[in-house]
Amino acid sequence: MNFDFSVFLVILSVEMNFNKYPSHMQKRYFLSEDDIPRQWYNIQADIPVKPMPMLDPLTREPVTVDGLSRLFSVECSKQELNQSDRWIDIPDAVMEKYRYYRSTPLVRAYALEKAIGTRSHIYFKNESVSPIGSHKLNSALPQAYYCSVEGVTNVTTETGAGQWGAALAYAAKIFNLESAVYQVKISYEQKPYRRSIMQVFGAQVTPSPSMSTRAGKDILTRTPYHQGSLGTAISEAVELARMTHGCKYTLGSVMNHVTLHQTIIGLEAEKQMEMAGEYPDVVIGCFGGGSNFGGISFPFMRHNFTGERNTRFIAAEPAACPKLTQGKFEYDFGDEAGYTPLLPMFTLGHDFQPSNIHAGGLRYHGAGTIVSQLLKDGYMEAVDIEQLESFEAGCLFAKAEGIIPAPESCHAIAAAIRVAREYDAAGSSKTILFNLSGHGLIDMAAYDQFLAGNMK
Ligand SMILES: *Cc1c(COP(=O)(O)O)cnc(C)c1O
Repeated sequence: MNFDFSVFLVILSVEMNFNKYPSHMQKRYFLSEDDIPRQWYNIQADIPVKPMPMLDPLTREPVTVDGLSRLFSVECSKQELNQSDRWIDIPDAVMEKYRYYRSTPLVRAYALEKAIGTRSHIYFKNESVSPIGSHKLNSALPQAYYCSVEGVTNVTTETGAGQWGAALAYAAKIFNLESAVYQVKISYEQKPYRRSIMQVFGAQVTPSPSMSTRAGKDILTRTPYHQGSLGTAISEAVELARMTHGCKYTLGSVMNHVTLHQTIIGLEAEKQMEMAGEYPDVVIGCFGGGSNFGGISFPFMRHNFTGERNTRFIAAEPAACPKLTQGKFEYDFGDEAGYTPLLPMFTLGHDFQPSNIHAGGLRYHGAGTIVSQLLKDGYMEAVDIEQLESFEAGCLFAKAEGIIPAPESCHAIAAAIRVAREYDAAGSSKTILFNLSGHGLIDMAAYDQFLAGNMK
């Protein structure tokens, strides 16, 4: 018999490699229209230790729906304080708009796995396919919708990198509202195209701090060259909402109702992972105020609460703004001027000025109250990622998967790669799921700096 066994082995190993990394290299899972979840998941009903109450900034008493609804829509105020209903119906008008881009794909990232040589399976949920390029629209749509049915005519908000402002501007247009957006000054200058996007949708955009509000004037008197922060922009937007009849304030992160709306991400992902025949051992999201992290995590976390599952949840924050790993757990304001309720949360202090990193959406001083409580009680972990590591991960991901990630999302990718390598080093393999919160096509100036070697 002259059968050459070694040739057979070579063929077999090529075949096995081929199986591990199929030629299509990217497998995507979608839900049919009927399978898209029609309710959001309210983790407040299940969380083992309820967060401490938010306090009114003037009276220091727990806030009420009445108090909150002076700023926010009534429905969002109710959702904010709802600790009893586990499932909350998504209004039909919002479902209709969600269907413009949902379900978003769940992707098995074979090419990324191959690029880092890991034995783990890596999946990502691609929220960058929304019309404005990030997960933010998932909450902008219901917030604008509730305002419109409550007779509100104007909405205002702050925006950092411009993602939330763009989402709100578009959602406001859909539901026939006027929108005014305060954009953090440094982002307004660094990211002119986000401003243009907001203006295309008809928003009035003002760089913050500005002279158009008392809060802005006070900040500029103290610090004439203030670059702006989410804290300053929130103060200005809140003031405008308070002073203007028929105007409500909206927020793109941090608050419970925002994260509630974002749970559509995790609820879809749960069904899509089932289609893939897997369940995640690790779920990762980048972390600004916690809405995309909570959105992908909370639906999976409910199975940890009941003891059915033991998934790890990892929030990836920038080393330049490390509230989860280095902040203090205490009551603090959500904004610079102290207009918002006092929130029990991990914070770096409401006057913290993060350095000028490109991940504008992650430059926020605090964390949502639910996430803060979960971290305190050990239900989740947090890691810090340096800017350079995040862009290295982002470029690796782009080359493998063909999508240029938002600088914020690069932090989640970097964390996923770190975790995969740790498991490889320990000789094990896991199923890792991360949220791709947005694309970076309007952030190419940041990539230019990275490619030119000028990034710190
Ligand atoms: C706003 C934003 C973030 C951070 O906000 P979270 O509320 O923590 O999700 C992350 N990624 C992108 C693309 C964003 O626009």
